[in-house]
Amino acid sequence: MDNCLFCKIAAGQIPSKIVYQDDDVVVFEDINPQAPQHVLIIPRRHITSVSDLRAADGPVLASIFMAAQKVASDLNLERGYRLVSNIGPDAGQAVFHLHFHLLGGRKLGWPPG
Ligand code: AMP
Ligand code: ZN
Repeated sequence: MDNCLFCKIAAGQIPSKIVYQDDDVVVFEDINPQAPQHVLIIPRRHITSVSDLRAADGPVLASIFMAAQKVASDLNLERGYRLVSNIGPDAGQAVFHLHFHLLGGRKLGWPPG
């Protein structure tokens, strides 16, 4: 999609610190980390948010969660980590390309803000 920041990151048109990628997903470091480890997992294909997912998107969701599992293992997050997706204004979604935050490396508070 034109003018989508994360589509451009997925296409390599905007630089990012990529920690994992395959045919379906890209995982890169968040530019404003909220934990010692904070990466974003995105599908290469533009999807606006969880609200726009269809049942047919099941395979790309599987790829996202398998990438999360692999990256969490590579980052030695055996003590735990959190996956979060912000959807819409009340949740503070700022980039309208589906992404899951993977946060870890410290004790994470609950409930989140
Ligand atoms: P959200 O509020 O869930 O939409 O989160 C968007 C996230 O994207 C924020 O955590 C930002 O720090 C992050 N972000 C914005 N621009 C970039 C960028 N160019 N590279 C990496 N992360 C970014
Ligand atoms: Zn996009």
